[in-house]
Amino acid sequence: MALCSKCGKREAIVYQKHTGMKLCKNCLFEDVKQRILEQVKKYDMILPEDRILIGISGGKDSYVLLRFLPEIHPSSKLFGLMIEEGIKGYNRAETFSFVKSSCHELGIDCVITSIKEVLKYSVDEFMSLQIKRCNSIKISACTFCGIARRRILNVYARSHGMNKVATGHNLDDEVQTYLINILRGDIMRLIQLHPLSIVHSPLLVKRIKPLRTIYEYETAFIAYMEGFRFQETECPYIVERPTLRTKIRELIKEIERIDPSAQLKFLNEVDKALEPLVKMRNMDSVNLPRCSQCGEPTAPGRNICKFCELIDNVLNIQY
Ligand SMILES: [Zn+2]
Ligand SMILES: [Zn+2]
Repeated sequence: MALCSKCGKREAIVYQKHTGMKLCKNCLFEDVKQRILEQVKKYDMILPEDRILIGISGGKDSYVLLRFLPEIHPSSKLFGLMIEEGIKGYNRAETFSFVKSSCHELGIDCVITSIKEVLKYSVDEFMSLQIKRCNSIKISACTFCGIARRRILNVYARSHGMNKVATGHNLDDEVQTYLINILRGDIMRLIQLHPLSIVHSPLLVKRIKPLRTIYEYETAFIAYMEGFRFQETECPYIVERPTLRTKIRELIKEIERIDPSAQLKFLNEVDKALEPLVKMRNMDSVNLPRCSQCGEPTAPGRNICKFCELIDNVLNIQY
């Protein structure tokens, strides 16, 4: 391959499709770091006194987040939390031990917990209970797993004096989520996704996504270069993933064939368009109601939270 288009010294190892440049490892890493910093500064995502909990899924994105955050924030104020789902045949002990040793090298304290340990049911247990009680699957494993993770990260951060939760969502994830909510016409959700959006409850810890302008192929490449071992077995529940997201992903691929920087432009434009709405909403003095069952915050107008509703559906509905 040719020499790097940026430094002109080292051999290029990746073609950055949105800039048309061929980059060497050093220049790619520096470019990604600068783009993370740009978002962090633009939206005041990280302030010097912040204590940040990093949600580690065991995938490449959270690994890249873990790798880059210590370059922009002291590692003594960063904490990692790995969450085991409890899915048979999806054993990630190897990935977790790799992540754990990476944390150690980076000087980041890191803890492993499980959905079962915190919430009583593992993903497998929740699914089999559901089939037993309802004779069908009403709540997908991915929905349960997603809500459970968010709950665990929030409660852990809050009870350990951390004021931010960072997750590894990349540009592709963010664009898909924006599009899904635009198609659904869910303005409230769009506002909440915006990085300037504040939380309306003292019980909710602000979530940040420093990788939101980094392409998925870039996080995959960086993780690979850093020796991150990809999961050989896929999550057995993956087929149940919401199909709208899959269709949108396909559509974006088509669009990016014509314009390789379409996702970045889309994210920036939606960010900009939403900003006045977000600022208006931030001034509202709403305080989110608390769930009557678990006491955690829930959406306005709701009496029980999404998590209790899911559990309730499975435990109480009998056909
Ligand atoms: Zn270079
Ligand atoms: Zn609840």
